[in-house]
Amino acid sequence: MKILGIEHIGIAVKDLANDSPFWKHVLDIYHSSTEVLEDQGVTTDIYGTGKGKVELLEATNPDSPIAKFIDKRGAGIHHVCFEVDDIIEAIQELKENNIQVLGDTYSIGAEGYKVVFIHPRSTGGVLVELAEKPE
Ligand code: ZN
Repeated sequence: MKILGIEHIGIAVKDLANDSPFWKHVLDIYHSSTEVLEDQGVTTDIYGTGKGKVELLEATNPDSPIAKFIDKRGAGIHHVCFEVDDIIEAIQELKENNIQVLGDTYSIGAEGYKVVFIHPRSTGGVLVELAEKPE
């Protein structure tokens, strides 16, 4: 598996309308997209920093993993995402090393990236996402 860098940091927010102005107007970093991923119960709001992105995550419904995360732990850093060159190879390698991958294969995340998550149990307490850039 080849890690190409930190792709983004995912931050769970209660309310994008309240929290996005800090990123958009105070930090004045480039807003690249807002996307609703209905199957994942999340609205993503993505900002570029020049090196790595910030992904704000707002729940679209009370059963969303983001809503559950905020109920349990409060708003804040939710996951760290690393870009990989080949996600299928990465998943295979993780499984061979008995790392707990969530799901059998990748899914399509924001901006069309192929993504997979690794359980915090396998990483020292942080939800880790791997992402392969769409062609
Ligand atoms: Zn992410």
